[in-house]
Amino acid sequence: MDWTDETEGMHYEGMCIRPPSEADSILLQATVGCSHNKCTFCGTYKDKRFRIKDNDIIRSDILFASRYMRNQDRVFIMDGDALIIPYPRLTWIMEKIREHLPWVKRVGVYANTKGIRMKSESELIALRDMGLGIIYLGIESGDDQTLKAIRKGADSQRILDMGNKVKHAGIKLSVTVLLGIAGKERSLIHARATGELLSALDPDYVGALTVMVMPGTPLANDLDEGRFELPDHVGLLRELREMIAATDLSSGLFFSNHASNYLPVKVRYPRGKEQALGLIDMALQGRVDLRPEWMRAL
Ligand code: SF4
Repeated sequence: MDWTDETEGMHYEGMCIRPPSEADSILLQATVGCSHNKCTFCGTYKDKRFRIKDNDIIRSDILFASRYMRNQDRVFIMDGDALIIPYPRLTWIMEKIREHLPWVKRVGVYANTKGIRMKSESELIALRDMGLGIIYLGIESGDDQTLKAIRKGADSQRILDMGNKVKHAGIKLSVTVLLGIAGKERSLIHARATGELLSALDPDYVGALTVMVMPGTPLANDLDEGRFELPDHVGLLRELREMIAATDLSSGLFFSNHASNYLPVKVRYPRGKEQALGLIDMALQGRVDLRPEWMRAL
């Protein structure tokens, strides 16, 4: 076989996204784009047609990493929902990582519910045994009406079932939720339903981001045509407060320290909950500085 030369460097295509916690990881782009690519707020992969990259390219990138990335002990597999890769191909990738990057302690991946559904529990356990240590799942909301409106492709029950499947396989679960995604009128309903879903799911990590309306997305059209109204910063703070109040985790971490948020909050449940609510109350009373608009960005 004509293997691609691994000295060429990593073969990244287009804009590549990874979670903040994977900033120091070896970023291995095994898929291009997102197989779902329908969420109304997401413009990240609109210019990419989904495909799984050739094994030659993936292998070449792993070999490049084996030469030049020996100080990085985590791998993150991109793009948007790389867990969608069929099990035999994914197993092959995990084996190549183990073979050529034996110092790697954890492999992470973005997933959607479809990618999890396509794997049996025993396959997830096998992937865990090969090093898959964390799955990042964008749940955005626990409110079914909102999930339908944003075309997430799953309702709250499906999200709960798939999240539980990951946890039962012994893989860490990190989820993201979106402040503001339900618009102004449904803001608090979304907050409470999301808190209830998070409590039922009990993930290891929750990242709360504030929705940023990206030009060219269906959400931007809805905003332009008056079908969607983003809550203002006070509304977003109230939404965050309601969500944290409705969330009870056994020991998880809830972050809202993403650059898109007005108030960085980090809550270690269960003991940090009341303190976080107190901080938000102070912010609502104007006694805590919020992140200025110009500093908020994706
Ligand atoms: S599943 Fe994730 S990456 Fe794909 S369109 Fe939705 S938000 Fe974007």
